[in-house]
Amino acid sequence: VTQLAAQPTRIDRDAARAFVDRELLPVADNFDAERAVAREFRELVAQHGYYGANIGARFGGQGASALTWGAVHEEFGRGCSSMRSLLTVHAMVAWAIERHGSAAQQEDWLTQLASGETQAAFCLSEHEAGSDTEAIGTTAQRVADGWRIDGAKAWITGGAVAGLFLVFARCEDGIGAFLVPAGNEVAVAPVDDLLGTRASLVADIVLDGVVVPDAARLGPRGFTSSFLLTSVLDVGRFSVASGSLGIIQGCLDASTDRAAARSIGGRALADYQLTQAKIADMATAVVAGRALCERAAHLKDAGDPASVTATWVAKYYTSRAAARSASDAVQLHGAAGCCDSHRVARYYRDAKVMEIIEGSNELQQVVIAANVRGAVVR
Ligand SMILES: Cc1cc2nc3c(=O)[nH]c(=O)nc-3n(C[C@H](O)[C@H](O)[C@H](O)COP(=O)(O)OP(=O)(O)OC[C@H]3O[C@@H](n4cnc5c(N)ncnc54)[C@H](O)[C@@H]3O)c2cc1C
Repeated sequence: VTQLAAQPTRIDRDAARAFVDRELLPVADNFDAERAVAREFRELVAQHGYYGANIGARFGGQGASALTWGAVHEEFGRGCSSMRSLLTVHAMVAWAIERHGSAAQQEDWLTQLASGETQAAFCLSEHEAGSDTEAIGTTAQRVADGWRIDGAKAWITGGAVAGLFLVFARCEDGIGAFLVPAGNEVAVAPVDDLLGTRASLVADIVLDGVVVPDAARLGPRGFTSSFLLTSVLDVGRFSVASGSLGIIQGCLDASTDRAAARSIGGRALADYQLTQAKIADMATAVVAGRALCERAAHLKDAGDPASVTATWVAKYYTSRAAARSASDAVQLHGAAGCCDSHRVARYYRDAKVMEIIEGSNELQQVVIAANVRGAVVR
């Protein structure tokens, strides 16, 4: 993303909804088929200020509240989960730098992240270490000028085009986070056989003796694996919860249109009660999912630590409901919905991914259950 925003419009849900309807929905299926969100489109998103949505105004960002940011990611999720995913990982890295970075790291990176000039990628997972983040094998060893990083990261959203990688690696004092610019001997291998979020420019990343200066390490020592990682993943999880809600809304919109337009046996599909049951389930999931996401957002905006559990609950609910709604939407569309190029087929494939990323549904169940043992889930 190279073109800078002259003066991004102030973002809010209405502006994001209009942008998604006008610009994103008409091209999202093409991006899916071409397995890439086009560079020009990412530039357009940058021009409108969405890359800087959660970055402070002093770095040229929008400084949006969690409530607004979630609403924007809901709208992008309705339009295209791949584009939403690119914004998600970018925002996670920006958030980590703004909250935990040194003044020099903030100066170096936040302005170009806010403008969208540089796409950021979040590099935690490895082929042998997904859910179990403590098992990562990438290492960072002290060398004279800083750190030498060796290892391979897997399924990195935006990795194919990123200018900055936030890389988690094992150090002598725990897991450390490092800001690694692209180039710098980072090898990038695009992943082009994904079930869903096919256009999110996912890549495997190999770091073979990449040396970065000491100043590239993010956050205080010994602090990274717990607080930094938990808090950054919480940002991503909130985006995925909101984006999954957008998928449910998209399924509802497509299904009501189809049910009204399709005539079977001399009656509109919408007139059949079994169709109405599907529509009612989707409509209920939209209301319930939005309530859960907005609750998590309000807690975040109030600085309440209960927002972390609230976000797990929201993401667990909305990702499951998105998968169910997308399945019902394909069912309601019949064979038309089984074609790769149909919007509901894209929702169906993307929704499955939402149940796996940013903490799989099983991990969410474990965490939610742990929180109810002897306590009320706040
Ligand atoms: C499209 C896509 C984009 C991605 N983007 C990124 C990215 O940008 N950056 C990044 O770092 N990673 C990314 N990932 C990786 C993602 O975070 C991992 O896939 C996820 O954490 C799960 O890890 P895994 O795939 O290794 O599954 P595994 O950890 O092998 O889990 C397999 C299954 O076991 C279940 N399981 C695990 N633990 C338990 C348990 N305790 N009890 C019961 N069941 C359990 C899981 O829920 C899952 O169903 C992406 C993945 C995809 C598919």
